Amino acid sequence: MARESERLLAEAWRVIPGGVNSPVRSWRAVGGSPAFIARGEGPYLFDVDGRRYVDFVGSWGPLILGHAHPAVVDAVYRQAKVGTSFGAPTTLEVELATLLVDALPAVEQVRLVSSGTEATMSALRVARAATGRDRILKFVGCYHGHVDALLVRAGSGALTLGVPDSPGVPACLADLTVLGAFNDVDGTRAAIRRHGAMLAAVIVEPVAGNMGVVPPVPGFLEMLREETMRVGALLIFDEVITGFRVGWTGAQGRFAINPDLTCLGKIIGGGMPLAAFGGRRDLMSLLAPTGPVYQAGTLSGNPVSVAAGLAALRALRADADTYFRLDHLGQLAERELREALVDARLPGTVNRVGSMLTMFLGVERVTNYAEATGSDTARFATFFRRMLDEGIYLPPSQFEAMFVSLAHTEEHIRLLGAAARKALNVTEP
Ligand code: PMP
Repeated sequence: MARESERLLAEAWRVIPGGVNSPVRSWRAVGGSPAFIARGEGPYLFDVDGRRYVDFVGSWGPLILGHAHPAVVDAVYRQAKVGTSFGAPTTLEVELATLLVDALPAVEQVRLVSSGTEATMSALRVARAATGRDRILKFVGCYHGHVDALLVRAGSGALTLGVPDSPGVPACLADLTVLGAFNDVDGTRAAIRRHGAMLAAVIVEPVAGNMGVVPPVPGFLEMLREETMRVGALLIFDEVITGFRVGWTGAQGRFAINPDLTCLGKIIGGGMPLAAFGGRRDLMSLLAPTGPVYQAGTLSGNPVSVAAGLAALRALRADADTYFRLDHLGQLAERELREALVDARLPGTVNRVGSMLTMFLGVERVTNYAEATGSDTARFATFFRRMLDEGIYLPPSQFEAMFVSLAHTEEHIRLLGAAARKALNVTEP
């Protein structure tokens, strides 16, 4: 079983730390040896041992159209033929920037970068320069990439692996990061007021995705908007996951809150390395060359990535039903998973916003980080491995989001449900 994947992992261990280029890919949280992937097609992944899985990871969010979508592949191919990088402006960048500015209510100008980490790092720099303040407030369990100041009580791999504070992050930088509790309206209000005069920004995943999916409680994002304005700090929405996922207008449109700055990634690159940060024109014009805040990138706005992103976003926009369909499939997935829990008489719950969802095992509700981390990770690990045996590829951690794509059909969602019933109903190992 999985012989070629295991052989490759051993080989990888020799030359790559832990054999992987991003920690969560190691399956450390669920045990076992990660499947090495040979190819993807629509809703399916195929590993090097010839096994096929229905994929609910979608490369951790970007693949809202599924794998190897023809329009995206064609755009990549056509651009690659005429050049892969110029280090000079191109028409495509203007087209993508225009599309982003038109779609997102709070984005007047945008700059393209290559990863979500770069986007949040740069947004913080703009916020600090604009306010002349150093402190930032982030929420425990929210992950914003591996930026020094943001790798403090972070979610995603950092949460999964129990490395909340990484060695190598200078204490003096971590000291500038104030922590809040996601969805704690009163506590966060008090923290913003307490640090007010020194606070450059509050950064938040408007729908938390990196402690598993946790939607904002009514009033939470509104409070952040009000209180940051009151103390003169900026509000940064990290929409790297939620941008074009929870709707064409992102979380900012869905919840009708205008942040000062927005970080984007994943979907906007169509599966290629591409991210962005943007927001109010007066803030973005602080960036060089118009302003003094330095930020740059050899491959920023890379034409192949931009072509892929544009193709993906245009495909999403082409169909007026896109987000209705995604929500419908997400709803079906939620129902199937809930029914599987009931069938198995297991405590658990499913959180969902549109096509992003998490089934938490062992807890009745999850509205914040404390409740999320109360879930039964050992049971999740067993569940993950059994789902894999059933041909369903889930995120290899309790604290991640599953993503439904437009390549999934109701039939794939029913397969998910049937597999979950089987995987949960088996008596404990
Ligand atoms: N912000 C959020 C909300 C994320 O989920 C991620 C990555 N999963 C990042 C930022 C960092 O993006 P990247 O991995 O492209 O650096």
